[in-house]
Amino acid sequence: MQTELRSNLDSVRGKIREAALRAGRSDEIKLVAVSKTHPASTMREAQAAGLAVFGENKVQEAEGKIAEIGRENIEWHLIGHLQSNKARKAVELFDVIQSLDSLDLATRLERICIEEDRPAISVYAQIDLAGESAKSGIQEKDLPALTSYLRVCRRVKFDGLMVLPPLFDDAEKARPFFRRLREIRDELKSQGFFQNGTGELSMGMSHDFEIAIEEGATVVRVGSAIFGARGRTEEMRSEK
Ligand SMILES: *Cc1c(COP(=O)(O)O)cnc(C)c1O
Repeated sequence: MQTELRSNLDSVRGKIREAALRAGRSDEIKLVAVSKTHPASTMREAQAAGLAVFGENKVQEAEGKIAEIGRENIEWHLIGHLQSNKARKAVELFDVIQSLDSLDLATRLERICIEEDRPAISVYAQIDLAGESAKSGIQEKDLPALTSYLRVCRRVKFDGLMVLPPLFDDAEKARPFFRRLREIRDELKSQGFFQNGTGELSMGMSHDFEIAIEEGATVVRVGSAIFGARGRTEEMRSEK
């Protein structure tokens, strides 16, 4: 098992390098290892193999693993929809919340940071580019209201954007979504956002991260290509 994880990881890293090369990029691309459904023991193996950034989609599941593994030398990213009643717990546990999807949630996070004396939390706005109401993510038309609030936040740090395109058999079909996210990032940058960084673009999963990198991804979220396939029943179990 251990060697399998290592060889998977080598392969993913190789593909990241090659895609970056194809795109003529030499900037850093952050690999978020999506560890949802996998036990802490597997994550320890992943740590031993050099992974230090983990993505979880459920607050409760992450809480148990963080209790076992800790937060030292690890960056924990929340990549799933955050229910408002779990926002306080999320502020306590995560370094980055990639799934900021409403003005209401941003307001809540800012207030909780003040109440809990947390100086800063990093967030990415998750945009629903497919306009699928069933999915989480903010609609593009609602983005300006969110970003003008983020501009005046003191604790919530607006560091980037995230997209989860519909699942296509042909990964190429995700390319326009990645391209659009990049355009929105560039537009926000021209409006003066992301002054202290690049404006992260979190896009690309196991089946399409190479395409996302060609389109400018600075953060890729890779689960099954590293850890192997997740069980279908595990996948269906949802907190929502
Ligand atoms: C599960 C998940 C991933 C990783 O998916 P894989 O196909 O296993 O790489 C990435 N992003 C989000 C938001 C997810 O929920």
